[in-house]
Amino acid sequence: MTQALNQTALLTGGSTGIGAVYADRLAHRGYDLILVARDQARMEALAERLRGETGRTIEVVRADLTDRADLARVAGRFASDPTITLLVNNAGLSMTGDAISVDPVEIERLVALNITAPTVLAGAAGKAFVARGEGAIINLASVLALVAEMFDGVYSGSKAYLLNLSQSLAAQYGAKGLYVQAVLPGATRTEIWERSGKDVNAFPPEWVMDVDDLVDAALVGFDRREPVTIP
Ligand code: NAP
Repeated sequence: MTQALNQTALLTGGSTGIGAVYADRLAHRGYDLILVARDQARMEALAERLRGETGRTIEVVRADLTDRADLARVAGRFASDPTITLLVNNAGLSMTGDAISVDPVEIERLVALNITAPTVLAGAAGKAFVARGEGAIINLASVLALVAEMFDGVYSGSKAYLLNLSQSLAAQYGAKGLYVQAVLPGATRTEIWERSGKDVNAFPPEWVMDVDDLVDAALVGFDRREPVTIP
C-alpha cells in the first residue's frame, strides 16, 4: 500500500457513494484531501470524521462542476498547490432515460459532468504533474464503456470517452511521470441509481458490488500501477 504523507488528493464527487469511500481510504493512507461536490454539509460531516480518525487536513470545496466558473476555480488549484499529487475524477451522473426519451437539458448536464469536467481537470492536473515529473490521475469510467448495447449510449459513451482519454494520456505522458488509471466498475450500490430513477435491486444481487469492495479492489489496481482496472 502506498503511504502518502505531505501529499494532497483532489477528489470530485466527495460527498457520497464511491467518492466518499475513496476519501476515507486516501485519508487513511496519509493523503490530505480536497473534497469537491455541491452538498457542503455532507462533505463537512465526512471531513470532520476523517480529520478525527486520521489527523489529515481535509478541505471542503463547494462547486457545481457543470458550471464553467466553478470548474475553472477547481482546475486552478493544480497550478497553485504543488502538494496536490493525485486527482480522482469521480463525480458523474446517469440519466433518467436515453438520447431519444430525455429532455436535452439532461444530456447537456451529463456531457458537462461526465466529459467536460474530468477532461478539464485532467488537463490542468496533468500539466502540473508533468511539469513536476510526478503525479497520478484516477478516472472513474465504467465497464459499460465496453458493452454499449447493455445501457443508454450517452452514459456508456461518456465512460468510453473517459477510458480513451485515460489510455491516451497514459501513452503520451507516462514516460514523463504521469500515471493514469481508468477504473471500470460494474453495477455498484450507490445513490446514482435512484438519482437517475433506476432501482439497483432490479439486478440479480450477484451482479451488484458493495461500494467498499469496489474502491478497495480499485486501489489494489492503483498500487500495481494498472492502466485499466475492472474491479
Ligand atoms: P453517486 O452516489 O450518485 O455520487 C455522485 C457524486 O458526484 C456525488 O458526490 C455528487 O455530489 C457528485 N456530483 C453530482 N453532480 C455534481 C455536480 N454537478 N458537481 C459536482 N459534483 C457532483 O454516484 P457513484 O455511484 O458514487 O458514482 C461515482 C462515479 O462512478 C461516477 O462517475 C459514476 O458514473 C461511476 N460509476 C458508478 C457505478 C455504479 O454502479 N454506482 C458504476 C460504474 C461507474 P453532490 O450531489 O453533493 O454534488
